[in-house]
Order: sequence, then structure tokens, then C-alpha cells
Amino acid sequence: MSARILEGRSIAAEMKEELSAQVAELERGPTLVALLVGDDPGARAYSKMQAKACGEVGINYELRQFDPSLSEDELRAIIAELNADDAVNGIILQMPVPEHINGREMQVSLAPEKDVDGVHPVNLGLLSGGQPSLAPCTAQAVVRLVEASGVEVRGAEAVIVGRSVIVGKPTAILLLDRGATTTICRSTSRDLGFHTRRADILVAAIGRAEMIHGADIMPGALVVDVGMNESRDPETGKFKMVGDVVFEEAKEVAGIITPVPGGVGPLTVVMLLRNTLEATRRQREAATRKLVDAPGTGA
Ligand code: NDP
Repeated sequence: MSARILEGRSIAAEMKEELSAQVAELERGPTLVALLVGDDPGARAYSKMQAKACGEVGINYELRQFDPSLSEDELRAIIAELNADDAVNGIILQMPVPEHINGREMQVSLAPEKDVDGVHPVNLGLLSGGQPSLAPCTAQAVVRLVEASGVEVRGAEAVIVGRSVIVGKPTAILLLDRGATTTICRSTSRDLGFHTRRADILVAAIGRAEMIHGADIMPGALVVDVGMNESRDPETGKFKMVGDVVFEEAKEVAGIITPVPGGVGPLTVVMLLRNTLEATRRQREAATRKLVDAPGTGA
């Protein structure tokens, strides 16, 4: 029997409507500033998607583009200025950055309360501690799909292949916090198939085209394919986007599976909108508390 295909697009559309209504309730719409250094086509394409999605829900999106020769010190100064600007609620540094810039260090220089990508150590630490945080968008997207699948997470065996800071690890933490028994696999894992074959929930976040085959999947499992890999079609010679899972094989074994494209991707950008709204609310609440607590104004 063929698996149920779990699309992200319709969930993304629903979430955008909800977010749009919530943004409309604010006195002023949130502002998200994206920093693009250089001309990476992937980063440029992602910026376009962000701009479109922000426009749909009423978030002001400002893309600041810089020559690839921008120095680290210059970028650090730009980030410091945005950190201090009360009119800016969210900042995202588009990756990858040119080689002479240490992207991780630059992400660490973001104000944690404006880090809507959820990549700052403070946010990752809060996430690990089970406290409210701005969690990485892709991990949130995976969890939203798992919730939408209807599969019981409590007590489930969840296996995540990939241990990156922005996808694998935070996804494991979020699923663990929801009651799953989680295993994270990586390139050094002995016998990957042993782990994947016992997964009720299998999350593939590897970045290797069609690495997980049907035989690696437990019959009836939920498979969430995060991978976005360009692959040349041998028949047409054209490039197409494929996941980390061999979809045609997996759908004959899995119970539910997310497609690539159209699964995790559309939801990732919506989670960026959600984080931006959440960050804005928290900043404005903190500003109001400061006013109330200020000597001579107060309660
Ligand atoms: P990384 O390259 O940072 O991490 C890949 C992980 O896969 C590493 O932990 C690596 O292990 C592991 N890995 C590599 N080869 C194997 C192997 N043979 N067996 C087991 N594990 C292996 O990638 P990201 O987490 O950034 O991204 C993963 C994929 O998700 C990519 O295709 C990316 O394009 C996609 N992506 C999709 C998004 C979306 O919105 N849909 C958003 C972000 C990413 P080790 O640590 O040992 O090297």
C-alpha cells in the first residue's frame, strides 16, 4: 500500500493566515532585516522567498545587500547597529557568507532576542534547557509536520539522521521534549540501517541525494525528508530537487511521507515569520515592563 503524502504547502498557507491575523492586531507591524553578503544563488533565492512570505502576512522585510568584499569588522558594525535599533525586531544573516567571513561568529554577534533564525547560543541553550526560545526554523517545521501527521510522538522511536546545529540537534530536542525516544545518527554511526529500520518517526537531514532507501525504513513509519539536493535527471539531463530519501521506494514502505519539494521547505519560511512575530511581541512586552518599572512612572 502506498504511503499518505504529507504536504507542507497547505499547512503553511493555513499558518500564514493565522499569522497575518495576529500581525494585524499589533499597533505596528514587525520589521525583519536580512543581510546578504555576496551573491550566493541559494541565499538569494531564500531571500526572495522570505520577502514574499513576509509581504503576505504584513511583516516589513528589508533586504540589505553587500558586496562580497565586505569585511568581518564592517559586518560586525552593521549587526551592532541593527541590534541597537528599536525599529528592527528580527535580523537574519543569509548563509553562506563569503569565505573570509566567519558566519558562525557573526551569528553569535546577533542580539539573541532578534535572532529569528534561532541560531544564537543563547537560544540554542534555552531550547536545550526546555525554556521558551526562538528555535531554529527547520526544526520547528519538522515538528509541525510530525504534529500534522497525527502520529503519536509520546513513546515513539524517533531517529534523526544528521546532527547539525540548525536541523538535526534541535529537531531531536523538540521531539524528545514531546515524549519521543530519540536517536541522532551521523556519518560515523555504525550500521545506519539498524537505527533507521526501527524508527517510528524517521527524519532525514543529511544533505545527500536519495541516500535512504525503502529497505532502510520500517513499514508504516512516518518519514520526514528535510534534504534539498540538486540532482540531474539521467533521462532529460535537467536538474531537479530531490530529498535524502528515495521517494518512490519509501512511499511503498512508509505509512506517511513528506515530499521534496513541497514538504519541509514551505514550512521553514513560515517558522521564520512565526519567530519574527514572537520576537516582536517579547521585545514590546519587555519595553512596556521597563516603562512601568522605571522610577517615578510606576506601579
Ligand atoms: P549539514 O551538512 O550541516 O549536516 C549533515 C549531517 O548529515 C551531518 O551531521 C553529517 O554527519 C550527516 N551525514 C552525512 N553523511 C552521512 C552518512 N553517510 N550517514 C549518516 N549521516 C551522515 O547539513 P544541514 O543539517 O544544514 O542540512 C541537511 C539537509 O537539509 C541538506 O540537504 C539541506 O539542504 C537541507 N535543509 C533543508 C531545509 C529546508 O527548509 N527544507 C533547511 C535547512 C537545510 P557528520 O556530522 O558526522 O558529518
